[in-house]
Amino acid sequence: MKILPIGYVKACRRCKRMESDLTKPELSPVPIWRCKDNDCKAWIREELATSLTPECPLCKSSMLKSIRHLPKLVKKNSRKKK
Ligand SMILES: [Zn+2]
Repeated sequence: MKILPIGYVKACRRCKRMESDLTKPELSPVPIWRCKDNDCKAWIREELATSLTPECPLCKSSMLKSIRHLPKLVKKNSRKKK
């Protein structure tokens, strides 16, 4: 994963709206699964899905792949690698 310098993220059209609003966290597009039922708000990060075709934890419907703009996760480097 490339680490881009702050300011580079502005390439995203949606994030561009955030430029003038510095109080909001920086958002980046994240692949997610969302419930195909529009009335159901369940969704999970793709990276947290336990299966390739996850089912909704709430209503057990199938889920659709989507993109969501979320605050960036700060990942700590694992130091346990040997
Ligand atoms: Zn659901």
